[in-house]
Amino acid sequence: MPPIATSIFDLFKIGPGPSSSHTIGPMRAGNNFIRLLQNLPPAELASARRLRVLLYGSLSDTGRGHGTDRAVLAGLLGHEPGNCSAQTLDSLDIDRGTQHTVAVRERSLTITPSDIIFTTERRGGRRDRAPHFPYSNTLVIQLMDRTKVLFEREYYSVGGGFIEWKGSTPERRGRPRFPYSNTLQLQEQLRRHRVTLHALMLANEQAITGVPPAQIQKQLDAILDAMIAAVERGMVTEGYLPGPIHLHRKGPLLFQRAQKMAHSPDRFLVDLCAYALAAAEENAAGHPVVTAPTCGSAGVIPAVLYLLHRNNKLPRAVLRDALLAAAVVGFIIKHGASLSGAEVGCQGEIGAASAMAAAFIADAHSQPFMILENAAETALEHHLGMTCDPVKGYVQIPCIERNAMGAVKAYTAYLIACAGIPEWHVVGLDKAVKAMALTGRDMPSQYKETSRGGLARCC
Ligand code: SF4
Repeated sequence: MPPIATSIFDLFKIGPGPSSSHTIGPMRAGNNFIRLLQNLPPAELASARRLRVLLYGSLSDTGRGHGTDRAVLAGLLGHEPGNCSAQTLDSLDIDRGTQHTVAVRERSLTITPSDIIFTTERRGGRRDRAPHFPYSNTLVIQLMDRTKVLFEREYYSVGGGFIEWKGSTPERRGRPRFPYSNTLQLQEQLRRHRVTLHALMLANEQAITGVPPAQIQKQLDAILDAMIAAVERGMVTEGYLPGPIHLHRKGPLLFQRAQKMAHSPDRFLVDLCAYALAAAEENAAGHPVVTAPTCGSAGVIPAVLYLLHRNNKLPRAVLRDALLAAAVVGFIIKHGASLSGAEVGCQGEIGAASAMAAAFIADAHSQPFMILENAAETALEHHLGMTCDPVKGYVQIPCIERNAMGAVKAYTAYLIACAGIPEWHVVGLDKAVKAMALTGRDMPSQYKETSRGGLARCC
């Protein structure tokens, strides 16, 4: 297996909810397509009039509930996830008849929301005639004259907001200074070079991206700030979430109730759940969150971060380092399995987030790598097989409460790892990641972000 060459900021990205694979990925694809058109030969653009988008797989099955149409339209209009505010997205008119104009050099191309086609809808809900693509979340963006396709690109939203396209080759990046592709190799690097996990992560990030350490620290601070902001906004924003479920926000209520539990031993658990619900509800509202590692799981790490920041008053430098520990677990899971609900079910989103959060807590408490690894493995192990079944295609039920459960399991896993004897731990993180990949492979497709199985089928 090649060494891990993922950047920390590929994993932790600031962008609009509610689903990284359904909003951030498609928005990036739309933006990439428009940049591509800027470089087309004039002859290819001469007869172009309009744009069309075909959504396949889970991008289509979840329908408008995941906001994919709005996200890809925003990308085509030139917006990028990192700088597109919730207000901009909310103000985008996606009524079927509204015509938007995209300027590409001297041409004005039109697109209406009805040009963004959910192919399952077009086939009356049947998926049988969908073309075979290498990834389940595929979108094809086309440049058209009135009726004919002049040029197109086939994009794959491969989870966590990452995109690839047909024929794309991985971006050329530097080789990590301390290469590893799994936990065992990472441990060997730490041992052989007598380097701390934080130093190893920073050195690798610099070698891979060329970004100097001071800038990396600044970017880590921006990620921490965005996570904290999502929790704090969610704790004071009341009311209903968008969509047909009419789900009322719970984060503010739990937070208010927690204030009245001053001497109760349960207080910290209610706090932790309130923080997770608050950030997850902000995601469901389509507001900016941090993929950690995805939008659907964007409440788990912020919840433990906020607990350690607000309740335990841990210093910023400790939290910044803990983010590096969470990232290394995310890398290992992404490399050995997947972070995409559409590929492996919810174990790849909430399960991965919980494992990363467990490592975060262990690291913030200055535990050695062995405890950190045990905590991450324990959290992941108890999410294996968890399916993705968002009700009515909205990242609300079961997603929001799953964030609270993921945060609680992360804290429990940390406590078990600390209280145990590390040498007695039988299943290592690498084995849990392998089990996750195999379980995901064996999982029927209706449990992979299609809203056709589980709770989505019963509600
Ligand atoms: S069920 Fe899990 S994987 Fe599926 S959308 Fe919700 S949070 Fe994401």
